[in-house]
Amino acid sequence: MTLSGPTDTQRPALEPGLYIAATPIGNLGDVTHRIVDVLSRCDAVACEDTRVTGKLLKHLGLSKPLWRYNDHSGEGDRTRLIQTMHDQAVVLVSDAGTPLISDPGYRLVQDAREANVTVTSLPGACAAVVGLTLSGLPNDRFLFAGFLPSKEKARHEALHKDADADATLIYYETGPRLVKSLNAIEAALPGRDVSVARELTKLHEECRTGTAAELADHYTQFPPKGEIVLMIGPAQTVTMTEADADDLLIEELRDHKASQAAAKVAKRTGLDRKVLYARAMELRGK
Ligand code: SAM
Repeated sequence: MTLSGPTDTQRPALEPGLYIAATPIGNLGDVTHRIVDVLSRCDAVACEDTRVTGKLLKHLGLSKPLWRYNDHSGEGDRTRLIQTMHDQAVVLVSDAGTPLISDPGYRLVQDAREANVTVTSLPGACAAVVGLTLSGLPNDRFLFAGFLPSKEKARHEALHKDADADATLIYYETGPRLVKSLNAIEAALPGRDVSVARELTKLHEECRTGTAAELADHYTQFPPKGEIVLMIGPAQTVTMTEADADDLLIEELRDHKASQAAAKVAKRTGLDRKVLYARAMELRGK
């Protein structure tokens, strides 16, 4: 991709500072004109992996000094980079998508702002947002929580804690861990709508919605390849009859105390926990 108009040497130099730039998450057509313009005029690019960013720049017909900046970079690297930003325009990119979003850059931005460096963010692709817009799940309230913990207990706790947000939950996920996460969702938040968005913006893009149990069955049969955004819809706010709620409470009361049964049914249905607790106590008394 090239821009028509003045050549590099004719275009005015960029103001010094830090430019946070999103890069494509698959489809190279998703890099914006503004980002190509800034990349073509900057002094240097700070990136996670110089090979990955080198390929993108080559595709854009550009060549720039590349500085590695990733999770292993220390305070010294950051201080040197920020020093440079006082008189040079430095673009921060990650391997794919928006820097800082489950990617390096948070401390660099924080330190740059403290050092009075001008910081600008150039928007573009972000897998979480692309997945959410594609999923058909409610998007009036959503919580992005990065990757789920890999340990079972921590994952279970994270799901319960995030569910309190009463919003669509968005996680980044990998193929090998997907079925385990879906099983954990089925156990912790049963009955929710779940979406798996895979290979977004790429040739084999897919978005599949169902219960966690249905999706776990599917992906056990067809192990998923590629990159994944996993989303969980909020508890259904369908109007339930008292009899429906009673059925669920009776089921939960078989294995749990009234308070736990009420909490579980509240999570499943979105109904008020205190009202459910009072009803659970009544049912227990019968
Ligand atoms: N900063 C990036 C962003 O803005 O999306 C995310 C970086 S994070 C290290 C990488 C994770 O993002 C992947 O493991 C996957 O969960 C998700 N991801 C990135 N590209 C994706 C794609 N094309 N389709 C689905 N998920 C993707």
